[in-house]
Amino acid sequence: MGLLLAFMTFFLRLSYPRSIRGLGLWAAAPAWVFLSTLLFAGRGVFPDFLTIVVANLVILTGVICYHAGIVRFFGGRPAWPLWIALLVLMTPPLYWYALVEPNYNARLVLVCLVWAGILLSMAWRIWRQGPATFSTRFTAIVLVVHAAVLLLRFFSAWRPLAEEGLFTPTRVQTLYVGSNALMLLALGMGLILMAGDRLRAEFEHLASHDALTNVLTRRVFLDACEQELARCRRHGRSMALLLLDIDHFKAINDTHGHQMGDRVLVDLVGRIASLLRRPDQLARFGGEEFVLLLPETSQEEAITVAERILARVAEPRDGLPPITVSIGVATNRSDEDRMDALLARADKALYKAKDEGRNRIEVA
Ligand code: GH3
Ligand code: MG
Ligand code: MG
Repeated sequence: MGLLLAFMTFFLRLSYPRSIRGLGLWAAAPAWVFLSTLLFAGRGVFPDFLTIVVANLVILTGVICYHAGIVRFFGGRPAWPLWIALLVLMTPPLYWYALVEPNYNARLVLVCLVWAGILLSMAWRIWRQGPATFSTRFTAIVLVVHAAVLLLRFFSAWRPLAEEGLFTPTRVQTLYVGSNALMLLALGMGLILMAGDRLRAEFEHLASHDALTNVLTRRVFLDACEQELARCRRHGRSMALLLLDIDHFKAINDTHGHQMGDRVLVDLVGRIASLLRRPDQLARFGGEEFVLLLPETSQEEAITVAERILARVAEPRDGLPPITVSIGVATNRSDEDRMDALLARADKALYKAKDEGRNRIEVA
């Protein structure tokens, strides 16, 4: 099962975009677990050093790989020196209780505690850092259940039965060995679901956001406007639309190059965004034209926002050519209930602002 999971996750890693991190480690993890089961199963055939000391270190390496994969998945960097130190520190006691003074329970106590600790840390990270979706909740719960079984095994090892060992079929030992297999499968499924959710979220973001400026695209913005307009109709509220176009932007491109033009666009979005409230929505409508939806905003308030934008755009910034913008403002009317009409008025106002000399605000 470990080998199968490693194989599947490895091919997932190959086919998924590299921006979804951690999959390589999640593929390596069950491969290490698979190797450890081969070693554990070789008891009596291979030397005890391999089937006990190395086998335990290998299974812990697998668990560490799962953990490191989660850290990567959430954009962090695994603490490799710490993990290597842990494995080095585990070696002498494992060696002692395997070869000098063989004691299965002592080894079990040690390994179960470390293992459960790593699993709980994984569950905590997923719960805290992941979105509240089925995949993250499922994975975190699998990890907590597995940690609970390991801790049960840990406590049961304090009252050892005579001649207990890896293959002694006591109830708790059967639960322990069985759940290791079952939880490995459940964890693998949970992680693959998490990666799938992340992929979908990335695609959704790509489809709804402009690649250069990271504001909304036209389609998503218009959907949001339609919803807001419907809300306004129901509750008799007002909303404002600001259509904003950079003045003589072609000249910026011609003088400073297209790349500088791009930087100006990104900078402009940053400036506008710094003035917005939470419900406000900003979108790129076309080349150097942006549109702003201000819910629950009157015409006077919308003009104030537009004035603030003109002032913010006028502030000089090192390394960027100065620009000005023209803004057309329109607010909803009770006698007009279509988005196209509202947009057309904002567009008309913008044209007027351009006609009247640019770097100004017009209302329609
Ligand atoms: P006006 O004041 O009348 O708006 O003049 P303008 O030059 O801004 O308007 P025009 O529509 O003639 O030119 C828009 C320019 O915007 C032309 C195009 O090359 C540039 N542009 C559109 N998209 C991008 C982009 O993504 N990056 C850069 N650098 N330039 C862009
Ligand atoms: Mg322009
Ligand atoms: Mg334009």
